[in-house]
Amino acid sequence: MSRPIRARIDLAALRHNFAIARRYAGTARIFAVVKANAYGHGLLPCAQALAGLADGFALLDLADAVALREAGLRQPILLLEGYFDAAELPTLAEYGITTAVHRPEQLEEIELAGLPRKLDAFIKVNSGMNRLGFTGEALIAAVRRATASPAFADVTLMTHFADADGPRGVAWQLDRFRSMLPCWAGPVSLANSAALLRYPEARGDWVRPGILLYGSSPFADIPAEQLGLKPVMTLASEIIGVQEIAAGERVGYGGTFTAERRTRVGIVACGYADGYPRHAGTGTPILVGGRCTRLLGRVSMDMLACDLTDLPNAGVGSPVTLWGEGLSADEVASAAGTISYELFCALARRVPVDFIDGEGN
Ligand SMILES: *Cc1c(COP(=O)(O)O)cnc(C)c1O
Repeated sequence: MSRPIRARIDLAALRHNFAIARRYAGTARIFAVVKANAYGHGLLPCAQALAGLADGFALLDLADAVALREAGLRQPILLLEGYFDAAELPTLAEYGITTAVHRPEQLEEIELAGLPRKLDAFIKVNSGMNRLGFTGEALIAAVRRATASPAFADVTLMTHFADADGPRGVAWQLDRFRSMLPCWAGPVSLANSAALLRYPEARGDWVRPGILLYGSSPFADIPAEQLGLKPVMTLASEIIGVQEIAAGERVGYGGTFTAERRTRVGIVACGYADGYPRHAGTGTPILVGGRCTRLLGRVSMDMLACDLTDLPNAGVGSPVTLWGEGLSADEVASAAGTISYELFCALARRVPVDFIDGEGN
């Protein structure tokens, strides 16, 4: 028998979540954000599941964009951070890949590349995130140059919100964005998941939801379930050992958990080398046989411990859900001081992945 840990990816849930994005998007077109291997869920299966639904796909790596084209996807594919080296430009042209343009030299590189076809470009506006993009005069010059140049086909303006899920909101960035180019009448791309769900005025012509497609909430204070989202990834394993310990005994490295009563400890085949967050401590929720209990002590590389004291029927072989169906990844992430994005992206290669489409097949 092999080690019992597995990740299950429910492509029907992915499509369900996409339908929710569609409802909020109204008439805006939707880039399904599939960067970072579709947030750890598997690039090709996820993109193929959305092939008939998404208006476009957005990701980072040119090689991934090419893989989507070779898998037969025809819709726009946007490189969210643009290309990294001018040597990549012929490939962008060959495969019809759309690039972000975020620094002035890129305009010149694209003009000088002598490409066999025009490129679609998303000019990145720095409206306050202060990561990538143009502001002020440089923005005006970039837009003027791209729209006048025969090297460019469609030009769209794109910006990214820093606090759409938080108290600062989006109005301050929208104001800056609009005041930088008051006469722009072309297409714009604005919203991530949080802005799409919370700010209808911040949709623009293209929205870019990521995390909501994978069934997590972008908001710390609103559970995914309340937004109608379904978990796509379920990380599951089994109890592989049980210890009965007396009050005063400790569990795991460093002995950070001390039993206050006689305690039944279940050992689960899942550790930080599988992608489970090592910073999750005692009390982090975990499902055993469908019932919620708590993590005990430190997470090891290949194992973790949980409390079976009040689950007398649980034992070796009992199914365990680390996150997913029945236990939101958001709750586990929050107990570990992080966000579900990081849990999903950290799923380790050694964990076998099963793709299902709806109930169990
Ligand atoms: C990752 C990313 C998104 C998607 O963000 P979510 O919070 O996952 O919806 C949208 N736009 C850009 C530029 C991104 O990098």
